Parts: sequence; structure tokens; C-alpha cells
Amino acid sequence: MDHDREISKAEWAGSVSGDSKADRPPCPECGSAAVASMLYGLPNFDDEKLMARVKRKEVVLGGCCLSSCSPRWKCWACGHMWGRVDGTDGPSYDIHQLTRELFERVRNDPEAERATRGMNLIDAILTLNPEVREAFEERERENKRP
Ligand SMILES: [Zn+2]
Repeated sequence: MDHDREISKAEWAGSVSGDSKADRPPCPECGSAAVASMLYGLPNFDDEKLMARVKRKEVVLGGCCLSSCSPRWKCWACGHMWGRVDGTDGPSYDIHQLTRELFERVRNDPEAERATRGMNLIDAILTLNPEVREAFEERERENKRP
């Protein structure tokens, strides 16, 4: 199953530059203003401005695992992640957190281990998390709409 979506150039540019402080919303869970925008893909480590923003915790490097439901914001105070990197509404899921939860569950639950044996990472995550599968499939349908 392919859940990746090609991000438009404009979205990517916004993602690469990170969002200014004025653009970063407070955390909806705890109200903290210590919020960073997620940056996906391989960053330009020579970009001193960007690296300074990473150091100031205004930008978080989210890695190369980007899905249509990847979160846009991260709260430093409580760890909550929300929004979607493509600006659409709906729940978002951090692939790293889902991966940690998957490994934890497969280690402790023989039934989960059997159910996902031989699967690739994404399929295993979707098999054990019906609500994540639903969100992904909803996004797929939205993307196919003209
Ligand atoms: Zn928070």
C-alpha cells in the first residue's frame, strides 16, 4: 500500500523554511507557546539559519518518513503533536511514535506478533491500529477527488 503523497512545492517550501513564531499556534492540549514546526525530509545542514532554528527548538527534524497524516506541530511542554503537514484537517500520526508502540506491542502480545508476522512496517502499524488505517484511507479518498 502506498500512503505517501507528493507534497506540492509551496507546501514543501513552507516546510523547509519552518514557520515564524507568529504562525506557530499554541498547544491545543496544554496551551504552551513552546511549539515547533516539523520539518520532513533530508535538511540542508549547511543552512545556518535553519540549523539555528533547530537549535532554538523552533523547528524539529521529523525524518524522511512522511505520510499524508504526518503532524505539523510539536509541543515541547507536553509532547503533543498535531495538525497535518499538508494543512488539511483531521487526526495526525507520528510514524516514529507508532513504530515504538508497534515494537512494544509485538514484544508483549503474542497475538499481535502473529497478526503482523512478515508484514512491512506500515502494514503492521495499520493492522494493529484500525483508527490510523481509517484516517489514512480517508486521506487517500480525499487525494483522489478531482
Ligand atoms: Zn502541550
